[in-house]
Amino acid sequence: MSYDTVRETDSTAAELLEQERARQNDTLAMIASENHVSEAVMKAQSSELTNNYAEGYPGERYYGGCEVADGIEQLAIDRAKELWGAEHVNVQPHSGSQANMAVYLAVLDPGDKILSLDLTHGGHLSHGHPANFAGQVYEVEQYEVDPETGYVDYEGLRETAESFDPDVIVSGYSAYPREVDFERVQAAAEAVGAYHLADIAHITGLVAAGVHESPVGVADFVTGSTHKTIRSGRGGIIMTSEEHADAVDKTVFPGTQGGPAMHNVAGKAVGFGEALDPAFERYAQQTVDNAKAFGERLQERGLSLVSGGTDNHLVLADLRPSHPDTTGKEVESALEEAGIVLNANTVPGETRSAFNPSGIRAGTPALTTRGFDEDACREVADIVSEIVESPTEDTVADVSDRVDDLAARHPLYD
Ligand SMILES: *Cc1c(COP(=O)(O)O)cnc(C)c1O
Repeated sequence: MSYDTVRETDSTAAELLEQERARQNDTLAMIASENHVSEAVMKAQSSELTNNYAEGYPGERYYGGCEVADGIEQLAIDRAKELWGAEHVNVQPHSGSQANMAVYLAVLDPGDKILSLDLTHGGHLSHGHPANFAGQVYEVEQYEVDPETGYVDYEGLRETAESFDPDVIVSGYSAYPREVDFERVQAAAEAVGAYHLADIAHITGLVAAGVHESPVGVADFVTGSTHKTIRSGRGGIIMTSEEHADAVDKTVFPGTQGGPAMHNVAGKAVGFGEALDPAFERYAQQTVDNAKAFGERLQERGLSLVSGGTDNHLVLADLRPSHPDTTGKEVESALEEAGIVLNANTVPGETRSAFNPSGIRAGTPALTTRGFDEDACREVADIVSEIVESPTEDTVADVSDRVDDLAARHPLYD
């Protein structure tokens, strides 16, 4: 895909767009929430549907001219139902955070209570952090991961649920490397009469492919982003039962959004179609296999992983045991200079600040999209280890060629 059409009228923007394509081609994206969509998804996202006002839902719009928008939204809905087996799907949320907002508004009144995982233990801002609307409007209590094992402390969750008596319990996380036991969270929610919101933003693709247990049919509400492990372009999704369908549809529109971003809904339709192909199951399994290979190599090189490993697409390394004087930010910066992009992350029991935390989080969804296998991921882990051992200009200079070579051996966008 070229930006010649943009260049004709706007060379400045075209230059930046070309730079971003080159950056993605030439560097290794290990931000665990990122991925690379296909050219087909990008093409759909840049379609004429960006022009439509399609307020409402298929067959019940407030404006004319929506026959095609109806068709594309229904296609996205039908494919999502097939992928995740949900009774009711809303594909209009502009993002995962807005999907969560719509669910809260559907079942909570201001002042009601949310129980969710602590942000520094792997939770998400939209689960009730004070900086997010949910933390300002609702009363929030947090559960944690077990400091010894790094696994969600389900027993502690159950006990806190009993004392706090929440209206919603949120499961699903941003920096959690282990399989989530949705049944167990559901049992805790049922015991106190709370709704269970399973936010599978990170693992939508793994769940769709059956390589992670599904909360659909277990939790009352399932939300997600559509641009992480499911490669369908930026956006959000809500899945629920018929019982809550109307409530959710109303809080998405008109509750929190105006016209849906129909071009992004088109991207979702195309991306979901790709995910229905059997090749996607292999992709999801390879993503997990790659994360395991990557994590094991880090461990062989002396790094400590939160929870001791991974069941999914990401690893969270705690630098403190092996490199107490090195911070996540230092490693993040040196790696970025070398061409590997991941993020510094807080770890359970964090002793530094959120801006300069003690861990790094790395995911394999994007590398796997460009064809990385376990061997290639071990090579990446070797480079990451060398930078952790010595986050200096010299090491960056040493490893840069190997990063370039890995990128060149796994071509991405033309
Ligand atoms: C990424 C993420 C979200 C939503 O992110 P958006 O950027 O709003 O799509 C929500 N919950 C969790 C757990 C996430 O990791």
